[in-house]
Amino acid sequence: MPDSQATYAEVVLPLAVPKLYTYLIPPELADHATPGIRAVVQFGARRFYTAIIWRIHNQEPETYRPKVIEALLDDHPVVDANQMKLWEWIADYYLCTLGDVMNAALPAGMKLESETIVMLHPHFNHSYENLDDDGYLVAEALSVQHQLKVKDVQELLGKKTVYPLLRQLIDLKVVVLEESIREGYKPKTEQVVKLAEEYSSQKARQALFDELSRAPKQLDILMNYFHMASLGKRLTKGELLEATGRNYSAFNRMVERGIFVLEEETVSRIHTAEESGSGMPELSAIQQEAMDSIRQHWEQKDAVLLHGVTSSGKTEIYIRLMQEALDAGKQVLYLLPEIALTAQMVQRLQRVFGKETGIYHSRFSAMERVEIWQHVQAGRFQVLIGARSALFLPFRNLGLVIVDEEHDRSYKQFDPAPRYNARDSAILMASIYGAKVLLGSATPSIESYYNARQGKYGLVELMQRYGGVQMPELRLVDVTKSARVADSSTHLSEVLVGAIKDALDQREQVILFRNRRGYASMLVCGTCGHTPECKNCDISLTYHRYANQLRCHYCGYHIPTVVECPACGAHNMRVMGFGTEKIEDELKLLFEHAKVGRLDLDAAKGKHGHAQIISDFEQGRLDILVGTQMVTKGLDFERVGLVGILSADQLMYFPEFRAHERAFQLMVQVAGRSGRKHKQGKVLIQARNLTHPILHMVLQNDYVRFYEEEIAQRRKFSYPPIVRLVQLHLRHKESDRVLQAARQVYMLLQRHLGKRVYDPVVPSPARLRGLFLADILIKLERKGTTLHRVRDLIRQAELLLAQDSKLKSVQIFADADPY
Ligand code: ADP
Ligand code: ZN
Repeated sequence: MPDSQATYAEVVLPLAVPKLYTYLIPPELADHATPGIRAVVQFGARRFYTAIIWRIHNQEPETYRPKVIEALLDDHPVVDANQMKLWEWIADYYLCTLGDVMNAALPAGMKLESETIVMLHPHFNHSYENLDDDGYLVAEALSVQHQLKVKDVQELLGKKTVYPLLRQLIDLKVVVLEESIREGYKPKTEQVVKLAEEYSSQKARQALFDELSRAPKQLDILMNYFHMASLGKRLTKGELLEATGRNYSAFNRMVERGIFVLEEETVSRIHTAEESGSGMPELSAIQQEAMDSIRQHWEQKDAVLLHGVTSSGKTEIYIRLMQEALDAGKQVLYLLPEIALTAQMVQRLQRVFGKETGIYHSRFSAMERVEIWQHVQAGRFQVLIGARSALFLPFRNLGLVIVDEEHDRSYKQFDPAPRYNARDSAILMASIYGAKVLLGSATPSIESYYNARQGKYGLVELMQRYGGVQMPELRLVDVTKSARVADSSTHLSEVLVGAIKDALDQREQVILFRNRRGYASMLVCGTCGHTPECKNCDISLTYHRYANQLRCHYCGYHIPTVVECPACGAHNMRVMGFGTEKIEDELKLLFEHAKVGRLDLDAAKGKHGHAQIISDFEQGRLDILVGTQMVTKGLDFERVGLVGILSADQLMYFPEFRAHERAFQLMVQVAGRSGRKHKQGKVLIQARNLTHPILHMVLQNDYVRFYEEEIAQRRKFSYPPIVRLVQLHLRHKESDRVLQAARQVYMLLQRHLGKRVYDPVVPSPARLRGLFLADILIKLERKGTTLHRVRDLIRQAELLLAQDSKLKSVQIFADADPY
């Protein structure tokens, strides 16, 4: 409760304004206003926003006269003290505003604004009894006009304060926000089949059977009904029809005759597993040892790194520890890099934890996310599986955070701000909540392993596969010796083609990894050497043969494929380089009878597209799967006998300090997909330079040696984790201006930070989406307070540019731990 003096609220606006903004709390709301509650406020000339009250006090701001809070949206805080600490840490460390964090953290459905469009709920049945006059007016207006902006509602009712009413109407399922419709809000209903009341007695049923003996199709449906119902299941029309050869007419006749009754049931949009408790297997002795060791470390430290080779049974250990946390009455957060690719893992966890399990990620609709938010807050979900944004859910009593595949770079959000890394934020989060963290990977990030070696995290290693299954056998293939590749008709060497054939003959599946999508990297005119480029970005367009397009992989710009050179007019366009589409094509020609699938960004867009391809492969409907790094991610297949890695060289020679780390991780991870339960798998790595040391560490699966060499390099050249990087990005549509701005900013920083700041560079590509780029790299000591100084300096730099009429339109933003 605020004291009676407290009349001002500092709020976070969902905007990139650097400071909290102060509003006056009107007396009638004074009892109610508490930190963490959503407030509707006016900001700028006429716009309204949902803000969050951060602090309450009684000091009038000195520089401006505060406006009055319009309304409060909640009775209880939606953001509690722990969440506030986490938001503040993220804003501070990742050099962004609390508004940026708010945007990432709160589901869109919790942010009403003036321009937000409201519509009638698709299930609204036009019964107006529960509505007051204002509610009635809005519902009426919407039945005529279909949609209204929030500001239209304000006009309609002749009052500014409409947010509490709208919130009520949303809760009553009278209206929805347009955003949720656009995101595909479909209330799901199912028709459940029940036998009519009158057939509940044995005698009546017997009579029914007798009667139907002359209608064999109906009889068949009835028998199936009894069989399926006897398994204790709630039976939908779809399931019954599916089981009985989709005989719609027979089924409909039974409904008409009153044998079956159909009942409409709404299914929750949140998919929870039917039931839990598929028993947990006994841990092996070494798994048990690893688990005990994790617990011991937790007595001293918050975070433990579990380094376990692929298929060593890490997941079984996670499951045990999760169960322990649940038994102690705590909530568990299980972070995964990309939910879309990990349906398998989600199902596995749901089988164990059942109804208490929630799933959360950005591809869910606004409505679904709000629902999950509320469930977590109410403690109805004890286990939460999610991608990085699940970090922001309103946990009440978080006890354990698991970060699976902790090395995966999708834990980092690149754009927009907050540019945070969910793995590192999870460590901080755990310290706020008094929870424990377990990071797991077969190929830990250099950062995490370094932290473990330094004693900051506990380290537990599990170096054998579960059940004594052998690690796959890896071999290098020299593509320079391949006649097939040399005459550039194909990218699959004789050795690899032979191995694919053997695998298919033995009814095994094959995965091929190529880190480039599209058909060819580019088209080049054989006569004048011209290459078609993106009109917005300084980058050549990638040739996509299926779509018959040239496409920019940065901005999405695309044009139809050219046959005639746009520069010289010759008909001599040639393809250079190759991507997954080309490999798919080659495979289809070489192995006519094999079913080939492709998994990359272009394949099967949409919420379930990738999951479908993965499940097709899992179920054996595909023999060969070609893909980008998507195929390297934690997939567990039974029948994969061979993995092929194409162009390993391109993975290793990438101009970035993390290239070797990534190459090692990708290769070891994809290799780990080969050979699971019953047989040793094979891995072939095609490369040109077979002497590259990384290849040999991959061959021996020697993580520790890889780490030692890599950390030595990072020390020598001052890269993370030895130092901390902050990257400043500047962009503008004129290249002169961006360079001039970069120069000025550099000089400012350099005065204060000296050699920690590096000369501005023009990255490659130099122009993206029509904007020219310049970057300034800053290297900071890991300890100390320089990060705060950098934050101030960035402010100063912004100001410097803002004061210069020529440079004020240059955009500048910072990225901490950028790679
Ligand atoms: P990781 O997560 O390290 O890749 P998993 O936990 O997926 O490894 O285990 C690999 C395989 O071994 C899975 O099929 C899993 O079901 C099985 N497995 C692991 N531990 C056990 C155990 N204790 N009992 C029975 N099967 C196990
Ligand atoms: Zn482009």
